[in-house]
Amino acid sequence: MKYVVVSGGVLSGLGKGVTASSIGVLLKSAGLRVTSLKIDPYLNSDAGTMSPFEHGEVFVLDDGGEVDLDLGNYERFLDINLGKDNNVTTGKIYSKVIEAERRGDYLGKTVQVIPHITGAVQDWLEEVAHRPADGSDLPPEACIIELGGTVGDIESAPYIEALRQFQFRVGRENVTFVHVSLVPVMGPVGEQKTKPTQHTVKELRGLGITPDILVCRSSAPLTKETREKLAAFCHVSPEAVMSTHDVPNIYHVPLMLEEQGLCDIMNVDCQATDLLNKWKIMAHHLDTLTEEVQIAMVGKYTDLSDAYLSVIKSLQHAAMAVDHKLTINWIEASHLESDWEDGSERDKAWALLKQSSGVLVPGGFGDRGVEGKVLAAEYARTSSTPYLGICLGLQVATIEFCRNVLGFEDSNSTEFDENCKNPAVVFMPEISKTHLGGTMRLGSRPTLWQVDDCKIRQLYGDGDSVDERHRHRYEVNPDMIEAIESAGLVFVGKDETGQRCEIFELEGHPYYVGVQYHPEFKSRPGRPSPPFLGLLKAATGQL
Ligand code: GLN
Repeated sequence: MKYVVVSGGVLSGLGKGVTASSIGVLLKSAGLRVTSLKIDPYLNSDAGTMSPFEHGEVFVLDDGGEVDLDLGNYERFLDINLGKDNNVTTGKIYSKVIEAERRGDYLGKTVQVIPHITGAVQDWLEEVAHRPADGSDLPPEACIIELGGTVGDIESAPYIEALRQFQFRVGRENVTFVHVSLVPVMGPVGEQKTKPTQHTVKELRGLGITPDILVCRSSAPLTKETREKLAAFCHVSPEAVMSTHDVPNIYHVPLMLEEQGLCDIMNVDCQATDLLNKWKIMAHHLDTLTEEVQIAMVGKYTDLSDAYLSVIKSLQHAAMAVDHKLTINWIEASHLESDWEDGSERDKAWALLKQSSGVLVPGGFGDRGVEGKVLAAEYARTSSTPYLGICLGLQVATIEFCRNVLGFEDSNSTEFDENCKNPAVVFMPEISKTHLGGTMRLGSRPTLWQVDDCKIRQLYGDGDSVDERHRHRYEVNPDMIEAIESAGLVFVGKDETGQRCEIFELEGHPYYVGVQYHPEFKSRPGRPSPPFLGLLKAATGQL
């Protein structure tokens, strides 16, 4: 097993996850089976209880793991399926060690950060790295380990120590340390500044890790002088100083690292497979798309696009497949509401909605903006605009239908109005009312087709069922199903019990589809998720 450990310095948001995934692509292109682990030094057990506002989207895995969004990058870039243990958190490590202590496993010893926590981290990394991730039952041959946060954080110190020890456990020759840093540009002539990188490498080396490769985020390619200076001050060879400068799209990142010789430094042959060639074609294809398609995203965290990262990626995958350049019209849902105080904001939101060729209402929690989402669903239904509702997006469309088509004016979800008379959406009986962490209906579950012929089934292709990932507490009210279906909104996919609604499709509409699951987590570049592909096809007149 070859390990690539990726740490970061200076500041967050340098694209460490994309860099790490791109290195994984290069190893994969050399014919290796690649997996990844992400270390998040926070105390939460997982990302499930964390706000997308603060932390970006909660990514959901097949096994129901609610994890950091970087695992989504790895799944998409490497086309693998990871499990919840691929996301290490301090919460998980400490729980494990404390549990062992209570069992008496440490036999009278004082339990300490070194060696017990650092040992538990290494055991975890080594064991999970060997788990198959590519759908075969063969163990991976290379593992990317990304350390979250920046070097110097108090939280990450035990992990740096664990990784320092790890090189001796698995053999120094089997570990490559990559440090991602920033090279800012200053002054009238645009001088590339190396000092922040010098400092962060000094800090890392002080903790016992000497990077083999430096990857520097910068606006333009590093000059020869900058590379040489960094090499001299940071104790790396000049060839091992790479730059990840601005590029038109992220598919260029593996390519630009390869061009700078990363494969030679890692001693792998990146031309061993056709993979990089495919990336080249994809990167170029995306650069050359000119015809635009506008999709409205009616959400709540619209200032922070990280909160919807996988949805955005899925839209991009689908737009590429229909040869269109994607423009997302971000609409803050509450701005569509009739009592929104700022009239000009409201007009702007409605104009944006109306100029879009498709409407997407993504998942969400809490009641802010829900009425705006209901209005967006109504607009799409009545104007024959293609609509995709994901999770909450399915629920709001069902509420809208119950109110405006069935005439149950006060219909709602009991999430937002516990006492409403004709609830369209209700709390699922098996869900915990007292514990929020890890208790939703989570992970991959089958949806069985209920009808032979509908648009969404055709998009998914052959098979009696589809497996997609879930994350919800509420469902369409089983008592309402019959009335809803007889008015034309048909639940064409249900769970294995035949009771729970998973997919609806509206009869006589170009494309009005809602899914209770989150298809965005399984979309891949070159293999777009079918519900998204349907939306983009319908929006560009290709369905
Ligand atoms: N809040 C809704 C539920 O719990 C929708 C969840 C979601 O969109 N992920 O069912």
